[in-house]
Amino acid sequence: MVKVAKFGGSSVASAEQFKKVKNIVGLDDARRFVVVSAVGKANKEDNKVTDLLYLCYAHTKYNINFDNIFKIIEDKFIGIKEELGLNFDIEGELAKLKSEIGKGIDEEYLVSRGEYLTGLLMAEYLDYHFVDAKDLIFYNYQGEIDFPKTQEAFDKIVREYDRVLIPGFYGSLPNGEVKIMTRGGGDVSGAIIANIANAKVYENWTDVSGILMADPRIISNPHEIKVISYSELRELSYMGASVLHEEAIFPVRDKDIPIQIKNTNAPHVEGTIISDNKEIGDKQIVTGIAGKKDFSIITIKKHHMANEVGLIARTLKIFEDFNVSIEHIPSGIDSFSVVVETSNIRPFIYELVAKIKSVIKPDEINVTHDISLIATVGENMKNSKGLSGRLFKALGEAGVNIALISQTNDEINIIVGVHNSDYEKTINTIYQEFK
Ligand code: ASP
Repeated sequence: MVKVAKFGGSSVASAEQFKKVKNIVGLDDARRFVVVSAVGKANKEDNKVTDLLYLCYAHTKYNINFDNIFKIIEDKFIGIKEELGLNFDIEGELAKLKSEIGKGIDEEYLVSRGEYLTGLLMAEYLDYHFVDAKDLIFYNYQGEIDFPKTQEAFDKIVREYDRVLIPGFYGSLPNGEVKIMTRGGGDVSGAIIANIANAKVYENWTDVSGILMADPRIISNPHEIKVISYSELRELSYMGASVLHEEAIFPVRDKDIPIQIKNTNAPHVEGTIISDNKEIGDKQIVTGIAGKKDFSIITIKKHHMANEVGLIARTLKIFEDFNVSIEHIPSGIDSFSVVVETSNIRPFIYELVAKIKSVIKPDEINVTHDISLIATVGENMKNSKGLSGRLFKALGEAGVNIALISQTNDEINIIVGVHNSDYEKTINTIYQEFK
């Protein structure tokens, strides 16, 4: 049995964290493939090496001395090396990097050095074979992962080595240049490796004991979700719950590999399992609640609209021409609304409304700002009658006015739109009802 264990930045932020990683990896022989992020924040005030590397690059671009920032990076790596008594010549690597920066360096290559150097230190510490991600994770020129090529490289490596450490967050293009992923991409690297290793489970080690049912800034001590499906997680992430990089789902979903979110600082806590396998555990009716503030609703009223073919399509075309992405389109007989993020229309709201007036000739057009959307997500909602009744009754009793309701046909998600000032109250009311 093979497990891929990915450790995020806070799990490798200090020598003390390195020790925890070693302990975790040593507890289970199946953890043969380890992926690491770059040294992250050791505490709230601290900085991530990745951010510092971006900062170095920005300094060189404007010809500003970056010595002080680079020194912070050096201190972090050298501190870890010394405290753990490692041999790797990190000082030499850092000196080389610094001179390369001075001569003008590719930004992606520079930023990838965070995981590269963290990986080299961790590989020595765990006694795992280090594989540079540029020799394992291959992209094509369209920016997609070249799975056959990546698989071939992986198969060759495992014929020779039993335990391998791979830095996350980057790979290489066909011409050999380093390509980095979007921020938090170490999660994606781990998922790709879980896919090509046919792992039994993809463990994602972080600093929280799983995914919470609601935002802890709003609900104190919310329950941890034990099991969540890939689709539920996507719905919650889209609505602002952030635990895992969005793209990390696809490589493992393809092969039905569960993702287990685990806490490096509390390794015995079960954590959250992300899987579509219904046998893995019992799920609640409502899996999670998430929301976002600051949407606008543009409501268009036109008598006998139902008889006018193509009216909604023509309206949406106007939004497309303004390059605005649409969240929801609730509709009635003589009116319909378009819900968008306010920030996406703010610069040209008057032009947009004027255009709708001239093309659609509505009887009335209203724009309401300061709307929050709150999603109540759960696949089991499908089979439970009266659930939306409970939800709306609870909100009614709490005195929340609902401006909009949207539910998709698969019934995995009920979205309510409320005034921004009711955002916290709405989440709290739904949580108390379904926790
Ligand atoms: N180090 C990168 C970042 O901070 C990638 C990662 O941590 O997964 O975004």
